[in-house]
Amino acid sequence: MNRRISKKIFIGDVPVGGDSPITVQSMTKTDTRDVKSTVKQIMDLVKSGCEIIRCAVPDMEAAKALKDIKKLSPIPIVADIHFHHELALESLKSGVDCLRLNPGNIRDRTKVAAVVKEAKIRQTPIRIGVNFGSLPPVGGIGVSKGISRHNDGVNLLSKGLSDNEYSVVDHMVQTGLWEIGILEDLDFDLIKISLKAFDIDTTVESYRKMAKLVPYPFHLGITESGTAKSGSIRSSIGLGILLYEGIGDTIRVSLSDEPTEEIYTGFEILKSLDIRKEGAVLVACPSCGRADVDVRKLANDVDDLLKKTKTSIKVAVMGCEVNGPGEAKDADVGIAAGVGRAIIFRKGQKSKIVPESDMLTELMNEISKVEQEKNLPTS
Ligand code: SF4
Repeated sequence: MNRRISKKIFIGDVPVGGDSPITVQSMTKTDTRDVKSTVKQIMDLVKSGCEIIRCAVPDMEAAKALKDIKKLSPIPIVADIHFHHELALESLKSGVDCLRLNPGNIRDRTKVAAVVKEAKIRQTPIRIGVNFGSLPPVGGIGVSKGISRHNDGVNLLSKGLSDNEYSVVDHMVQTGLWEIGILEDLDFDLIKISLKAFDIDTTVESYRKMAKLVPYPFHLGITESGTAKSGSIRSSIGLGILLYEGIGDTIRVSLSDEPTEEIYTGFEILKSLDIRKEGAVLVACPSCGRADVDVRKLANDVDDLLKKTKTSIKVAVMGCEVNGPGEAKDADVGIAAGVGRAIIFRKGQKSKIVPESDMLTELMNEISKVEQEKNLPTS
C-alpha cells in the first residue's frame, strides 16, 4: 500500500507521521486526579505495547495532576481538553507532550490562539480532535456564542452522497479546517488531526477528504465503537479501510473495556494488514467434526501466552493431524492435535510428537526456540 505522505511530528520522543511506524495509543479510564491509579493503568498499558497515552482533563486539579503523571510515565502524555481553554494552558504548564483540542466545544478564536501561543513556546503539538458527537452547530463553526449546542442541526445534514449539498462529512472537515487555519495563521504546524464518528462511512469519507487538503499526520479512530467484541469489529473495518489506503499515522481503538484491550485490538489491526510486524500472529483453525482437541480453549490459552511476545512470529493452533500442518504451512511453528497426542510442526514439517497433557508447554518451548533463532544476530 502507498502511505499518504504526511509531515512528521514528535509526541514526546515518539514520531508520528512521515515514515514513522504507525503507533497504537489509548486513553486512561481512571480519574486523572488520582495520580497513583492513573500511573498504574499507564504502566499496565505500557506492558501491553501502548506507545502514547491520553488522559482526560475535566478540571484544574486534573490539569495540575498531569505534572506528577508526566514525571512517572514512560510514554508521552496527551491532555484531552474540552470546553475550557484554561485547562489546556494549565496542562502545558504541567509539561504534557501533546494537547487534544476539540474545535466543536472551544470555538472562540482568541482562546484557541492563547493556547497555541503557549504551545508554540514549548513546541508542544496539538491534535485537532473533531468528533461527530460534539460538532459545532451547522453554521456555527468558530461561533462561540448565541447558538444552542443541543439544537445543532447536524443530524439533518446529508451523508454526503451528492457533491452539491453540504454534508456531515463537509461539516466534519470544515470544523477541522477552521482550527487548522488558526494554528497556521500563528505559524504553528505541529498539528495532528482526527475526524472521528461512530459511522464508518462518515469517518472514512472525512479522513479521505481531509487527506487531500492538508499535510498533517492523522490520528485514526472510530468513536464510541462499542464493546470489545462489537467495537473491535467496527474499528477494524473503519480503520482497516483507511490504513489499507495508506491513510493514518497513529490509531486509537475506543472500546467499552479495559484500555489494554484497545491496545491488543490496535496491534491486531496493524498486524492483520502487515503494517506492524512485531509480536505474534496467531493462526487458529475454526475446528470442525475432525477436531481431536478443544481448539477454542487451546487457541485462547496460546493467544494469552503470546501477548508478551515481541518477536515477529506466526503460530498455528490446528485441531487435527490430518489437515492441520498443511493448512498452516506458512506458520513458523504450530501444533496439530491428535488423539491423546499432538504434532508440533515448523513450516508444515513435523518437528516432534508430544503427549496431549504436555502440548501447551511443548508448544511454548518450541516457540521460545524459534524466537531465539529469529533473534540471533545475522552475520
Ligand atoms: S485443521 Fe482439522 S479440525 Fe481444524 S478445521 Fe481443519 S480439518 Fe477441522
